[in-house]
Amino acid sequence: MLPTLPLIDSFGRLHNNLRISVTDRCNIRCFYCMPAENVQFMESSELLSFDEIERFVRVAVRLGIDKLRLTGGEPLVRRDLDQLVARLAAVPGIQDIGVTTNGILLANQAADLYAAGLRRINISLDALTPEKFKQFTRRDGFEQVIEGIHAAQRAGFDPVKINAVSVRGLTEDEIIPFGRFARETGVEVRFIEYMPLDADNAWERGKVLFAHEIIETLSSAIMPLVPVNLAESAGLPATTTAAGHGGPAEDFAFADGIGRIGFIASISQPFCASCNRIRITADGKLRNCLFSLEETDVRSLLRGDGSDDQIADAIRTSVAAKKEGHEVNTARFIQPARPMYSIGG
Ligand code: SAM
Ligand code: SF4
Repeated sequence: MLPTLPLIDSFGRLHNNLRISVTDRCNIRCFYCMPAENVQFMESSELLSFDEIERFVRVAVRLGIDKLRLTGGEPLVRRDLDQLVARLAAVPGIQDIGVTTNGILLANQAADLYAAGLRRINISLDALTPEKFKQFTRRDGFEQVIEGIHAAQRAGFDPVKINAVSVRGLTEDEIIPFGRFARETGVEVRFIEYMPLDADNAWERGKVLFAHEIIETLSSAIMPLVPVNLAESAGLPATTTAAGHGGPAEDFAFADGIGRIGFIASISQPFCASCNRIRITADGKLRNCLFSLEETDVRSLLRGDGSDDQIADAIRTSVAAKKEGHEVNTARFIQPARPMYSIGG
């Protein structure tokens, strides 16, 4: 067996966070992720089975992975997702499991997922009206997502986090409603800058609504936003205490302590220097970056006669080859062939 040294890349970054895509299928068609029609999905035989995912996780834990997030495609369209959560939660060494979902199927699954051991849930919702929702997703379903958010809160998820992709020309009208929504419901709203991972290859830098613009709008329309660690040291109310998430989101609270807003400013303030993530796609390809142009086929090891040591070696080699950062802000940038739904966001 290989020695269990932590996963440290050549830039000194320690990796403890694994994102697992459980399917590339989805029940909506967000324009920044999927094509509108005629999507070529993976065959179900191509998807890693729950046994294969669990084995991969057991090997990754030996290398220091202790945090998992299930994603997709839409993870809740994968049958018996709660059973996978329960299996992964039982792996010794796993400290934390999250799911990112579009929320459409959540109302029926929230309680089972919570009972299976899931404690962190991010629900993607880009707009607070059905009409604008459809402009983003090219499908109906706004009411189902709102029901899903309420069901998640009833099931015990706390906090429930919302992910909203920030797109110039679409998101501006949603900023203040989202600020009020965060204050009224206790849901944490996180704006994610639109990234060049859309299937239509239509991303342009000019279409990104930047985090600082949203901060300015909220601060002048509602009240100043304070970085959460500052709010803590200023002794603001307990609702503003920071979660030491160690992730890419920058968290803010309104100055009166009511309402949390986060930002994933992947374009205007890339967080590559502190990236601690690796990803495995639904068809078992290991990726060391969302924007990576290379991937490692782990499924052939899992399905062939690859040993656990060979799988561990593949993970180490992938991490060792990780680049310093993405090149989205340079002329050298090449968009990966896989769009977001096929990578697992
Ligand atoms: N279907 C689930 C969902 O939408 O929550 C999980 C998969 S989705 C790919 C994961 C996250 O990536 C979502 O919050 C989604 O909004 C975000 N996302 C997808 N494409 C994106 C893009 N081009 N730029 C920024 N965020 C994106
Ligand atoms: Fe589906 Fe999520 Fe992609 Fe939207 S972002 S199309 S919900 S996978």
